[in-house]
Amino acid sequence: MTQVVIVGAGPAGATLALILVQRGIAVKLVEASRTFGRVFRGEGLMPSGLDALKQMGLSSLLERIPHRALDAWEFTVENRFLFRVDEPIESGGQPCTLVSQPALLQALIDEASVYANFEFVQGNTVQDLLWSDRRVVGVKLGDGRELAATLVIGADGRNSTVRQRANLSLEQQSHNFDILWFKLADSPKFESENVFYSILQDRHAFGLFQSSEGNLQIGWALHEDDSSDWKQVNWPEMLASNSPPWLAEHIRTHADTIERPVLLSVVVGRCPSWWTSGLLLLGDAAHPMSPIRAQGINMAFRDVIVAANNLVPLLREGVGDAAIDVVLPKIQAERSPEIIRVQQLQSQEAAQAELLGKSALLRWGASQLAPLVRQPIRQSWLHRQRQLRQGVTPIKLTV
Ligand SMILES: Cc1cc2nc3c(=O)[nH]c(=O)nc-3n(C[C@H](O)[C@H](O)[C@H](O)COP(=O)(O)OP(=O)(O)OC[C@H]3O[C@@H](n4cnc5c(N)ncnc54)[C@H](O)[C@@H]3O)c2cc1C
Repeated sequence: MTQVVIVGAGPAGATLALILVQRGIAVKLVEASRTFGRVFRGEGLMPSGLDALKQMGLSSLLERIPHRALDAWEFTVENRFLFRVDEPIESGGQPCTLVSQPALLQALIDEASVYANFEFVQGNTVQDLLWSDRRVVGVKLGDGRELAATLVIGADGRNSTVRQRANLSLEQQSHNFDILWFKLADSPKFESENVFYSILQDRHAFGLFQSSEGNLQIGWALHEDDSSDWKQVNWPEMLASNSPPWLAEHIRTHADTIERPVLLSVVVGRCPSWWTSGLLLLGDAAHPMSPIRAQGINMAFRDVIVAANNLVPLLREGVGDAAIDVVLPKIQAERSPEIIRVQQLQSQEAAQAELLGKSALLRWGASQLAPLVRQPIRQSWLHRQRQLRQGVTPIKLTV
């Protein structure tokens, strides 16, 4: 019988598992973490990702888990309001929505668990691949068990073990920042509207929003040339002194609620080949995405749709290994143009922020001339967002 083993129950692995089991294909899904809540997981979904979930028939599932639409994006430079864009940006379109990823992943697993052809192997790590005649034929787990597979899907994220064990190289793009992630007490300011604030102050850049969990979250860009040891920094004071007055007051009042930051390493790049005989990489395992403008989950869902379109008919028919291997490069070819373009757009966004961050003169100019430059800067930002929100290539689930 055809057996698919998926490694990693992140957005890519969990949605692909559900689509396949719903269509009668036997799936074993292996996930290293014991619970979804422990690790930090991004939660911004763009219209392209929301549309992908709708195509998968998962819009009602989304309604059942914690989520909140964004009302606006607002940009501040040197304590001066620069510009604001209300959501949804496209008239009649969908707003960017924050969705609790732990709840989403658990709901996907619960949905898949209804099917007898689904097995969830949780709290177990894939440590190696099984090979036969240069074809991947399964995985080896941390507890020594071996799972045989007609096809292995590596959906195990940016530091993918599957990718490394398959000797598939990753071409990393240069990026010069990691993210420090903070959680702090909610503010009444977010009751009436949830604004994503991007704040640039004295070359420090950070984003702030109310998460679907109801607390405030801050992502602070930690540049590689920052000389200070972030573990020694008095973060409540550092955050407050770089914030507009309303936020500084909130941070100082609730300093005791600020948890120790989590360092999230950013990896950005693409594999020249996403596949080898018997194995396909999807999501961040194939193309780790920058956190800029919340793209990675959306891209992972869209990878899954293309993979399902190509694989389901073959897996259902129980065709031979060679026929499966033939479609693996087709899946990469269909997805690559969008991934390349979106990564380009993300690096353009990063370059803009870096330019402003490095030049005190530019920051001063932008803040002093804000009333004059507001409209052109806003228009230019809006122009850059279209593909980051809608995707680049048309994607339609056909199976
Ligand atoms: C700071 C930060 C913020 C982000 N915010 C957003 C956002 O708001 N919106 C957005 O769209 N994207 C965001 N991203 C990007 C996004 O998180 C990723 O692109 C997305 O999660 C990729 O999904 P995935 O399923 O491919 O991989 P992952 O989400 O990384 O999931 C991989 C899964 O595999 C499991 N795993 C790993 N190794 C093994 C193993 N050997 N055996 C078994 N299981 C294993 C992991 O535990 C994990 O559950 C952010 C990224 C960062 C760094």
